[in-house]
Amino acid sequence: MLEWMVVGGGIQGATMVHFLRSQRGVSASEIAWIDPQKSPLAAWKRCTNAVGMNYLRSPGVHHIGINSFSLKVFAKQQGKQLSQQPFRGKYARPSLEVFNAHADEVLKKIKWQDMWKQGKVEDLEQLRNGWKIRLMSGEELEAKRVILALGMSEQPHVPDELDIAEEEQNRKGIHHIFSTSLPEFTMLKRPVAVIGGGISAAQTVLALQEKARTPVHLISKHNLKVATFDSDPGWLGPKYMRHFLQTKDYTKRREMIKTARNIGTIPRFIYNQLQKAQKRNSVIVHEKTDGRVSVDTDNKMRIGDEQKEIEAETIILATGFKKDLPANEWLTTVKDRYHLPVAPCGFPIIQSLDLAWARGLHVMGALAELEIGPIAKNISGARKAAERICGHAP
Ligand SMILES: Cc1cc2nc3c(=O)[nH]c(=O)nc-3n(C[C@H](O)[C@H](O)[C@H](O)COP(=O)(O)OP(=O)(O)OC[C@H]3O[C@@H](n4cnc5c(N)ncnc54)[C@H](O)[C@@H]3O)c2cc1C
Repeated sequence: MLEWMVVGGGIQGATMVHFLRSQRGVSASEIAWIDPQKSPLAAWKRCTNAVGMNYLRSPGVHHIGINSFSLKVFAKQQGKQLSQQPFRGKYARPSLEVFNAHADEVLKKIKWQDMWKQGKVEDLEQLRNGWKIRLMSGEELEAKRVILALGMSEQPHVPDELDIAEEEQNRKGIHHIFSTSLPEFTMLKRPVAVIGGGISAAQTVLALQEKARTPVHLISKHNLKVATFDSDPGWLGPKYMRHFLQTKDYTKRREMIKTARNIGTIPRFIYNQLQKAQKRNSVIVHEKTDGRVSVDTDNKMRIGDEQKEIEAETIILATGFKKDLPANEWLTTVKDRYHLPVAPCGFPIIQSLDLAWARGLHVMGALAELEIGPIAKNISGARKAAERICGHAP
């Protein structure tokens, strides 16, 4: 029986595995790190590449390393090998290039291949002294402790009226920016309209307008809103977290998370780029415009309402991820089977110290939101969760 199993090879899982190896001194042979992809951070790299992200929204102290300054030290060592300036602006936001190079280096040092197990978990069974997981291949593995770091990247959110089979969507020229079947931008029929009003929509529009001959439309149901981060940095520490944790009513906690998250906002540096592109006429922003889509007899798509209609040959949805419990079906079965506690929003009620949902079953990311707060799904949340599990799990 293994000591640890970490399910999910994204930012959350990577941070956890790194903490286990470096902080708790767990050897690679005692950990299985499970994910359907061939290597770690595949979903992160796919999604950030899809939107053409150059710089992260979060500051340079948020990364998968242990020491807050390890990314800065790493960038200095890399020097001229980096093609881009490694940090930008007041908050030293790291370039995606330096962030990923650092993450790859960290994972190489802890010998990720020795722990990696390609596969998808589809069931969990509680044992007397741990948990048994079953992969879709039928293979089973046992460990004393399991950490669920499942992420949301497999659940792109598609607005109800467009929620048709993905093949049918793609045939019509509708694609979700975070879908695994997203075509190369050069293959898309123009004009293109992007539906969404947040950072991903803005980044996508900026990436699409490069080398485009027709302007790219951005369709947002609200006025574009500027916010530096996707939640106030006060949520990183006691300033807001004290009150959050003192609130025992989980419905109220969920409300606090919803209010705290600056959903549908764009940081100033991207907003400025958008404005410049508007001035050049390579981007047309339609604010307060309904993203409803109708397809004409001539097969042209029209987006909008009676007041305003935009014609497009391709629609890119930059409408984020679903808000449901990650890995919904099998996790719901496990939760029901073992009567694991959940709040009215359906998310786990977990132990404050080690984020345990049951003995030996720990969670992070979205699953730990009711304990870690609005930053749970971010890189900073991964660090917080990893610290707690690493420091307190028995
Ligand atoms: C474009 C973009 C930019 C972002 N920028 C920032 C930023 O600047 N700063 C910041 O703090 N945050 C940012 N985020 C938010 C967040 O940090 C990322 O989404 C991050 O990748 C989340 O990591 P994760 O590990 O939770 O999820 P994921 O990257 O989704 O990884 C989860 C992994 O778990 C696997 N998995 C799921 N179910 C199973 C199963 N049953 N069995 C085995 N494996 C399974 C998935 O296949 C996936 O590989 C950004 C997000 C996006 C989309």
